[in-house]
Amino acid sequence: MDFSLTEEQELLRKTVRQFVDKEINPYIREWDEKQHFESSILTRLADLGLMGVCIPEQYSGSGMDYNSLAIVCEELERGDTAFRTAVSVHTGLNSMTLLQWGNEEQKQKYLTPQAKGEKVGAFGLTEPNAGSDVAAMQTTAVKEGEYYILNGSKTWISLCDVADHFLVFAYTDKSKKHHGISAFIVERKWEGFSSKAIKGKLGIRAGNTGELFFDNVKVPKENLLGQEGEGFKIAMSALDNGRFTVAAGACGTIMASLEASLKYCHERSTFGKEIGKHQLVQQMIAKMEAGLVQSRLLVFRAGWLKNQGKRNTRETSLAKWQACDYAWEAANDAVQIHGAYGFSNEYPVERYLRNAKAPVIYEGTREIHTVMQAEYVLGYREDKPLSSTLPAWPFEEAKETVK
Ligand SMILES: Cc1cc2nc3c(=O)[nH]c(=O)nc-3n(C[C@H](O)[C@H](O)[C@H](O)COP(=O)(O)OP(=O)(O)OC[C@H]3O[C@@H](n4cnc5c(N)ncnc54)[C@H](O)[C@@H]3O)c2cc1C
Repeated sequence: MDFSLTEEQELLRKTVRQFVDKEINPYIREWDEKQHFESSILTRLADLGLMGVCIPEQYSGSGMDYNSLAIVCEELERGDTAFRTAVSVHTGLNSMTLLQWGNEEQKQKYLTPQAKGEKVGAFGLTEPNAGSDVAAMQTTAVKEGEYYILNGSKTWISLCDVADHFLVFAYTDKSKKHHGISAFIVERKWEGFSSKAIKGKLGIRAGNTGELFFDNVKVPKENLLGQEGEGFKIAMSALDNGRFTVAAGACGTIMASLEASLKYCHERSTFGKEIGKHQLVQQMIAKMEAGLVQSRLLVFRAGWLKNQGKRNTRETSLAKWQACDYAWEAANDAVQIHGAYGFSNEYPVERYLRNAKAPVIYEGTREIHTVMQAEYVLGYREDKPLSSTLPAWPFEEAKETVK
């Protein structure tokens, strides 16, 4: 076992940290207040090669390993959840899914510009009546000649107004239930596509989230991802990567909560001593440290499995569940440590708390992950092999084995 980061990974962490401190932290309070998504951040991330950090160089990505993506997510969420969420959907849910399931033509056409950051990808699974219960979706894709005609809507979709390409899941045969769902690559510019942001969110207010509408959208049959009926499996495998990024990001929220709390512990005095000297305050600090280290270990274990090309649904789910719960607790304790000042946006901790709620809900709620873990342990759930797997890292070797 080797727990050390490579020199390249250390440099990556430093680069993203400097970027966040310079380009995000000075402005984030204002963006959050105005519910403004600053899309130029994605352009800057693209300049740094961070929109395709773990995508092979063959498709214009940076070719780094999967744990490097985790490092990017940790550091981005230390600034704000909005930008980590953007990388989660663009890279974790969309690009990595194209890498795993796309044919060569689809990879050239969609993955390459996404890895360069010239185009932005997103992921449309949730519907007004279908969140945890994916098969309750109502969107349909009916084959007519060379096209599928897409009708329906999606909601709570991150980057709804920003993304160029969407992975959209729809029924091609409702009678087959889970086995009747298919996955499609859909472009914003096509006729019949529209989107609308949701305003008034509790957190991730500097992020763009909302609805997608499909009114007889003509999707060329070449844009079917995988086979007809493979959509549910594709969606679940996409979540193995999305959840990984969410778990890593949660470590960033814990880091930020800890950083702000440590500073305040040394600044604020009560009863003649720094509040950091009170044992009950120390208990909250200690919990944050324990949560950070435990979460990070779970994330890097999942990334290590990805690097080996091994199935990691179970390990990723555990990392996502635990890290997001720890992040929520850390942000809550950070507000507590700041006393009344934590209750105002004079300090960033109230934003951390509001932001930390959504990750406990999206990409599998806390309850869904709890049930999954119990089912694995009880022997009620097992993962069957998939027809396409994510390439192992280093990619050069992977290319040979994938062929
Ligand atoms: C900020 C934000 C961004 C998002 N981005 C995206 C995106 O980019 N793409 C996308 O497709 N979706 C996205 N989502 C949607 C998200 O994935 C769903 O909200 C999530 O899957 C939960 O679905 P739901 O909200 O319909 O809740 P429901 O499934 O209706 O659940 C309601 C409650 O019931 C509980 N529950 C449900 N079923 C069970 C069960 N079997 N056992 C125990 N408890 C259960 C849940 O845990 C929850 O507490 C986003 C959501 C948010 C908040």
